[in-house]
Formats: sequence, structure tokens, C-alpha cells
Amino acid sequence: MSALLSFAFLFAAVLFVLGIKMLNSPKTARSGNLVAGFGMIVALIAVVPQLQGPAHGAVPMLNSVLIIAGILAGLVIGAIGAYSVKMTGMPQMVALFNGAGGGAAALVAAVELLHHGGTPRGAGFITVMLFAALIGALSFSGSLIAFLKLQGKFEKPLTYPGQKFINAAILATILVLGAMLATADASTAPLLVFVALSLIFGAMMVLPIGGADMPVVISLLNSFTGLAVAADGFAISNVAMVIAGTLVGSSGTLLTLFMCKAMNRPVTNVLFGAFGSGSGGESQSTDVEGSIKPIQIDEVAMLLSISQQVVIIPGYGLAVAQAQHQVRELCDELAKRGVETSFAIHPVAGRMPGHMNVLLAEANVSYDQLVEMESINPQMERMDVCLVIGANDVVNPAAREDRFSPIFGMPIIEAEKSRTVIVMKRSMGKGFAGIENHLFFRDNCRMLFGDAKGSLQALVSGVKAQ
Ligand code: NDP
Repeated sequence: MSALLSFAFLFAAVLFVLGIKMLNSPKTARSGNLVAGFGMIVALIAVVPQLQGPAHGAVPMLNSVLIIAGILAGLVIGAIGAYSVKMTGMPQMVALFNGAGGGAAALVAAVELLHHGGTPRGAGFITVMLFAALIGALSFSGSLIAFLKLQGKFEKPLTYPGQKFINAAILATILVLGAMLATADASTAPLLVFVALSLIFGAMMVLPIGGADMPVVISLLNSFTGLAVAADGFAISNVAMVIAGTLVGSSGTLLTLFMCKAMNRPVTNVLFGAFGSGSGGESQSTDVEGSIKPIQIDEVAMLLSISQQVVIIPGYGLAVAQAQHQVRELCDELAKRGVETSFAIHPVAGRMPGHMNVLLAEANVSYDQLVEMESINPQMERMDVCLVIGANDVVNPAAREDRFSPIFGMPIIEAEKSRTVIVMKRSMGKGFAGIENHLFFRDNCRMLFGDAKGSLQALVSGVKAQ
């Protein structure tokens, strides 16, 4: 029986690895999710007989009932959440789910620490469990604050004098308490204080960070949750938890680093800087030269119809307007007229990694039409029209030209190099970084003001009428 269970956990772990591998490409991502989900079902089923032994309480049936009740509750909440969430609300949902994972990991660790009351355990075991309790708890409270920030519940980041010192003092207290707990057998009261302080530390760590930086913070907390789960897995000898936790920990860390690289900001700047806070992101750059030149729908429709190559740069505004279906319709109409269209995807366009890919996939835009930033930039000069839809920072030439700009050094899609640039947005409103966009003032740039969905609908009709 135990060999069968070990095999089931190993099989589940293999499915997790395969699932993540399949997320590599948009073509296999959907199946990858299903494969990893199936792996989770295998692991959940395998855990039920494992908790039937005498070591797991006087009422073995109760364990099964509790597990099944937990699985059903999780299924219902997860399904309702996943079906009802809008694309723009996805980061919030990830924050909540990640918080739940961190909280669960902390609870497992706390229960394990108190479980064998009286039975001597090594300092190694206690240290690993304290580590899991600490990072699981801080991931739980930090994720909840991140969720609230993304929901716009905080007007601005909470900062006050001496904040870093206070946070450091809380962390130091946690570490001292942890050292004391590791050398003595854990008893309930100090352990509760340890977990409570970890929860407070998680919240205090995230409170001063700007709301717009939350996707990076969530990715980091996600990696913490993974590590906590892996530590739990070591302690309770569950190979599936070790592998799944390590996968989440390492992929979360890599994702955090990739996002920071794509924004050209060190992780420390995200965690301790003021960028994206709405208060500290204002540019000190020099005045922008040039003027704003609006354009009308019928002019754009004509321009697009007579082009050979059109590149579309989607951004956060496209997601907010939910205009993905209209942009695909526009491409279909242009294709009928022999116009070639492609989408230039910036790694941090939108508010979470892969935001644009998922959005466009939802509207059945062909994967072959999606081109990554590095591949499209050398081709920009050949583009007749570059249509920037609800994107702002990811096309701002200030990132290359203005060394005083807060986004200086961030790789951008070089929209300004195409023959004509049409920017579709509602107003002269700023983007995530809160700075002026030099592109809008360029000679070859025209502004088509309006909600992206409405403008695209009008453009489709305009192109049809050509
Ligand atoms: P931005 O936030 O820079 O700009 C979005 C633009 O969309 C705004 O200027 C807004 O202008 C416009 N907009 C909003 N609503 C609509 C609408 N209904 N119709 C038309 N336009 C609209 O987005 P980008 O995608 O260019 O850049 C993403 C930013 O987010 C980057 O700075 C990136 O670093 C950051 N970020 C991304 C993460 C990721 O993982 N993707 C993670 C963390 C940060 P207006 O109000 O005038 O309409």
C-alpha cells in the first residue's frame, strides 16, 4: 500500500512538472493547466488513505470526512472564483489563492510543531517547521494586503517615519523567538506569538509598496508560499509537496526576476522604492518637444486599408476596455484586404505576466500573429502603421532617451520607428509609471481619442466602408 501511495505522489509530481513545461507555449498552455490539475487530483486522492493510520487521531473516519469537505469547499470556491473573475481582476484572484496556500502551509507547520507533544524532535525538524510557519504566515497576510491594494482599498502606500527600522525590529524579534523555539520543544503560547508576529510582518512589509507594484510582490510571495509548502513536505515526508513547493518556489522567484528585468528595476527597488506608488513616480525629465495631433476614425480606417503591414501594440487599456474581440475583427477585415497584421507583445504589457497573450487567445487571435518585443523591434521600420491600443509605458521612448526618467533603461517596443503611429486611448491620461509619453508628441504620431472598444468598433465599420 505504501509503495502504491509513494508511486501516486511521484506520478502527481511528474504531472506538475509536465504541466509547467506545457505552459511554455500558448498552444499547449491550456492542456498544461489540465495536466497539472489532474496531478493535483491524484495527490488529493492519495492523501486520504495516508491519513487513516492510528498516528492520525482516534477517529480515522473523521480525517477522511474533513479532507473531502475541504476538497469540496475548495472546488466550489475555486470554480466560482475562476469563472466569475474578469481578466483585469486576475492578479487579485492570484493574490487570494496564493494567500490561502501560504496560510495552509503555515497551519500545517504549526500543527506539526505541536502535534507530537512530549515526543522529542530534533532542532533540524523544528527549524524547518518554523521556517514554513514564518514564510507561510507572512505570505498569507502579505497577499491579503496585496489583494486589498489591487482592489483599490488603499488610496496610497502606507508609509511613516522609522518604518524600515520597525519592520527590521519585528523581523529580529521573530528570529530570536524562532531560535528559542528551536532549542526548546515548541509550546503553544510562544508559537502563537511567533505566528502572530509573522502575520504582522507580512502585512507591514507590503503596506508601504505602491499598488501598481503588487503583481511583482504577489509573484514574490508566491515563491515564498512554494518554499513553505516544500519545507512542510520535507517534515511530513510528502514527496509531492516537496516537488510542487519547489516548483512554485523556483518559478515564482524566476518570474519575479524576469518582471523586474523587463521593467529594468532591481527587486529591492520594488520592495523598498516608491515607484508606481502614484506619488513617487513623477518624472523629473526635461520638457517634451512637439505637439499632440488628433486624428479621426475615417482617416485611420483609410490609412489601415491602404497599408501592407500593420503592427498592433496592445496594453493595459485594451484589457480594461475588454476590446480583444473587436481588435481581432479589425484584423480579419484588414486580412480580407490583403493587409498583414501582427501583434507586438511587451513582456510587462498589462498588469501581469502573459496578460496580453491570454487576452488575445480568448478572442482566438492566432498564436502565429503574436511577436515578442525582441523579434519585432528590428522590423519596426518596415511597418506602415503601428496601432498602439491602450498601451503607454511600454512604448515610451523616454525609456531609451531620457536618463532622468523613472523608466530609463526599461526595454520598450520601438513604435516611433514605424512610418505612422496611431495611439488609441481615452485622453492624455498617464500610464502605470505616471509619466509623460514622448511618443505622443512625435511628428509621425497621431492620437485617436476614445474608449478602445468603441473606437475599434467604429474602425471595423470604417474599414468595411472603404
Ligand atoms: P500603462 O498602464 O502604461 O497604460 C495604459 C493606458 O491605457 C493608459 O495610459 C490609459 O490612458 C489607457 N486606457 C485605460 N483605459 C482605457 C480604455 N478603456 N480605452 C483606451 N485606453 C485606455 O499600460 P502598458 O500596458 O503600456 O504598461 C504596463 C505597465 O504596467 C508598465 O509600466 C509595467 O512596468 C507595469 N507593470 C506590469 C506588470 C506585468 O506583469 N504586466 C507587473 C507590474 C507592473 P487613458 O486614461 O488616457 O485612456
